[in-house]
Amino acid sequence: MSTEGVKPEIRYVRLPRFLECGFADLKEAVVEVGRCSLCGTCAAFCGWISIKSGETATPSFEADYDVLCGLCYTLCPRVSLDVEEIERKVFERARGEEETLGVFRKAYAVRATDAKILKNAQDGGAVTALLAFALSEGVLDCAVVTSANEAWENEVKVVNNAEELIKSAGTKYVASPSVLGVRDALDAGYERIGFVGTPCQIQALRKVQTLDEPYRIGQEKIKLLLGLFCMEGFKPSLMDFVAKLVGDVKKVKKLEVRKGLFWIHTADGGERVFVMKLSELEGRAMPGCAVCTDFTAELADVSVGSVGTPEGFSTVLVRSKLGERLVTAATEAGYIEAKELEELKPVVRLAERKRLRGQR
Ligand SMILES: Cc1cc2nc3c(=O)[nH]c(=O)nc-3n(C[C@H](O)[C@H](O)[C@H](O)COP(=O)(O)OP(=O)(O)OC[C@H]3O[C@@H](n4cnc5c(N)ncnc54)[C@H](O)[C@@H]3O)c2cc1C
Repeated sequence: MSTEGVKPEIRYVRLPRFLECGFADLKEAVVEVGRCSLCGTCAAFCGWISIKSGETATPSFEADYDVLCGLCYTLCPRVSLDVEEIERKVFERARGEEETLGVFRKAYAVRATDAKILKNAQDGGAVTALLAFALSEGVLDCAVVTSANEAWENEVKVVNNAEELIKSAGTKYVASPSVLGVRDALDAGYERIGFVGTPCQIQALRKVQTLDEPYRIGQEKIKLLLGLFCMEGFKPSLMDFVAKLVGDVKKVKKLEVRKGLFWIHTADGGERVFVMKLSELEGRAMPGCAVCTDFTAELADVSVGSVGTPEGFSTVLVRSKLGERLVTAATEAGYIEAKELEELKPVVRLAERKRLRGQR
């Protein structure tokens, strides 16, 4: 067939805006204006971006020129976050107006049954017990967790057994670029990755998971997201402040934000507890946390926090079908004890407070 004289049809395709963006745009929109929470996602999925540790750590670009692939810009939860679309994809419905805590199926007061987990955990050990169960059942082949060394410096780890999980239990209040651990897990060849982290990290990984073409970055291998309730993360100088009070940070056994107070538990021969008002910590929070409106990790499969249950228990919000199956099966297998929670007012109050603060 001759095509002589036939004019080709020219179609103009408007590229999505992010494909015109690079690290410079991320820097301008997020980093330079103090919106970065240091979740680690940009550096996890781009080999040219790195995050150094330290008080003023921010993502930085290590190459001479940027290819403008848009990946860092697209994945950053502070650039954009279509909560409704993600909820439809993950939970099969978007939240209603009255659902202050986002979509969830059930709420429980949970306690791990394993004495070792309880001894090391922050609250009821729900996170560690659920991950231990998921590993034992082969639902996951590894979990990305945030551990700390003796000096209380955060260490992101990829672990695949209960022993290592237990060593990483407990809350580290200094913000950590924990999503970097997902890169390590992918590089190590893991296929069923579980992740535990703060709301910003969960938002970022949901963006990764629900990403449409053109990126293929191993998103299908991220299988389970456990989210932590979080009012804010802190700068590393939090631990300098703690060290000044207790003498040596290595004595610190546990840090806690509870009942509106900051608690430092130390073991130095005997046990000693320092308690102070949260206002003592003023100026030490990560600036990027001020814009966050998510207290309960609203996009996680299962969210876990302290507020809402007595000491020694974890408050657990089961959100996705996967989360529901996990919590039910872990209860049946005797990894956790779970009692349904009717009263969620204290959680709702803090969620509303954080939302208002973030919208200011
Ligand atoms: C920065 C921060 C602020 C928080 N603020 C609140 C709050 O205001 N109110 C509230 O109710 N709960 C808050 N939490 C959650 C709470 O402290 C417990 O983590 C939660 O109740 C789970 O307890 P658990 O005993 O089930 O967890 P555990 O079994 O002890 O497991 C805890 C898990 O948390 C992970 N983790 C610890 N530190 C970090 C970190 N910095 N980044 C990512 N992952 C981490 C570890 O990998 C570990 O697997 C906060 C947590 C963090 C990290």
